Amino acid sequence: MTGNEIKQRYHMVTDSLKDGVRLVAISKYHPAEHIMAAYNEGQRIFGESHVQELERKVKELPNDIEWHFIGHLQTNKVKYIAPYISMIEAVDSIRLMKEIDKQAAKHNRTIDILLELHIAKEATKYGFSLDECREILNEGEWRSMTHIRICGLMMMASNTDNEEQIRSEFNQAADFFEEVRTMFFKDEPSFSCRSWGMSHDYHIACQCRSNMVRIGTSIFGERVY
Ligand SMILES: *Cc1c(COP(=O)(O)O)cnc(C)c1O
Repeated sequence: MTGNEIKQRYHMVTDSLKDGVRLVAISKYHPAEHIMAAYNEGQRIFGESHVQELERKVKELPNDIEWHFIGHLQTNKVKYIAPYISMIEAVDSIRLMKEIDKQAAKHNRTIDILLELHIAKEATKYGFSLDECREILNEGEWRSMTHIRICGLMMMASNTDNEEQIRSEFNQAADFFEEVRTMFFKDEPSFSCRSWGMSHDYHIACQCRSNMVRIGTSIFGERVY
């Protein structure tokens, strides 16, 4: 990819998004100069899924970038990103929530998080089942964690070509978002993020009430691992 190709692809993506849908440009495995190509077009939210790689990029890149951590985060690594991370999207345990709260407190920050749902059929994906998520919110320990702010939900649909299945999973997430918002976050306008949709399915996600899409390949090309 050249900077010019990324620029064109970036605008193809942003032109296809409705107002009110936030783009998280997923830059994992892509070099800093490719990130800069999108940055120079105005993109400020980038997502990474590996702590070491993120650490390296944070040092090299402009400090007005809002970094989202989108991968599975081990509790023992929270301390590295706590000083600067803008949102941790894939929170999938109370233990992780507690650790983020603790590390955020050390830096006098409040860290925005999303709860990751597991709706897809695949056994390998992380995240809460809908029942687990209800249970955790009901139980209420999160209310005492004053250095995190639960801003919404994130999920990945099954990796399939079956559009109806993908649509049904996104719609389940959207319905669940409303349920949870009404029950627990009625007075918290910050509970507003519905993070679903990646390169191959974001068009569907946006028809299913997504307002935060996480797009890598469509902007930066295939990842070289
Ligand atoms: C890699 C990744 C993406 C982006 O995937 P693309 O297919 O490259 O758009 C989105 N969300 C998560 C959680 C990811 O790990």
